[in-house]
Amino acid sequence: MTSALITGITGQDGGYLAEHLLADGTTVHGLVRPGEQVPEPLAALDVALHVVDLADDDALRGALRDSGAHEVYNLAGISSVALSWQEPALTAEVNGTLVARLLQLVWEEQERTGSALRFVQASSAEIFAGTTTSPQDESTPLSPRSPYGASKAFAHHLVQVFRERGLHASNAILYNHESPRRPTAFVTRKITSTVAAISEGRADALVLGNLDARRDWGWAPEYVDALVRMARAAAPDDFVVATGQSHTVEDFVAAAFARVGIEDWQRYVSTDPAFVRPVDAVELVGDATRARQVLGWAPQVQFTEVVGRMVDADLAAG
Ligand code: GDP
Repeated sequence: MTSALITGITGQDGGYLAEHLLADGTTVHGLVRPGEQVPEPLAALDVALHVVDLADDDALRGALRDSGAHEVYNLAGISSVALSWQEPALTAEVNGTLVARLLQLVWEEQERTGSALRFVQASSAEIFAGTTTSPQDESTPLSPRSPYGASKAFAHHLVQVFRERGLHASNAILYNHESPRRPTAFVTRKITSTVAAISEGRADALVLGNLDARRDWGWAPEYVDALVRMARAAAPDDFVVATGQSHTVEDFVAAAFARVGIEDWQRYVSTDPAFVRPVDAVELVGDATRARQVLGWAPQVQFTEVVGRMVDADLAAG
């Protein structure tokens, strides 16, 4: 029986990954921080939760041993670029230093037990934020432009270093991936929840930052499948996980309003410099050829469908 340990299990991807692994018969363990709220979809699952302070190496080591994990998925982290500008040191610690400690603990556990462990890191398209190359692939030089991107770039290199050392460690270079479980700190869910509220007369304005930024938005449940394929691949590597299509924030806004039948959406939308980032990636779009060829992974849910499903979920939640 395969056993997996997920850090960051309470997040969007953690929940979907737990569901995905349970469905294929994997035993799932997850790390939860002391005092952390376990969200509803996760609380209903047959998952062993370990309450661990991520700053405590002994507790981390204990959870790793107790879980008997064959696969470790590191999804813990500050996931918001916007928040990383307010908390750069915390971002460096959680997205950077924690990965160094985790990799070392996984390495030591592998040495202790004599059996191979597999490590998958949630890397990010934000490591390419300053690039002029489009689309980006695994060979694109790293050029982070935010504290978030810099911390993810450091972790990305560390995973490569431990791979050289002999650990089956892969980087999933995840492009934006969305779902109804996205917090409203992200622009997609902010848009869909507000558009749903506007269509039901509960709100009358959508205030945003940069409408021209282009992102490659995919469907989160499909992205966790790529993580599992990486853990189980013959060889570890770096893999771009993306749809290959980019759209502007404005495209997302228009598609969300279209879903609720509002064509003259401009009258509801305004911009506020408070939501504009100090530095922002202009266009992020990924070439997932390697994931398709090596892992057999290809996304099915495209942009309009991602927007539509999120709007529908927000309408249903009322
Ligand atoms: P990110 O790509 O991981 O930073 O995901 P976000 O959903 O937070 O942001 C995606 C893009 O939307 C970025 O280029 C933001 O600058 C842009 N954006 C425009 N208005 C907003 C807003 O009101 N909130 C957020 N979070 N992003 C916004």
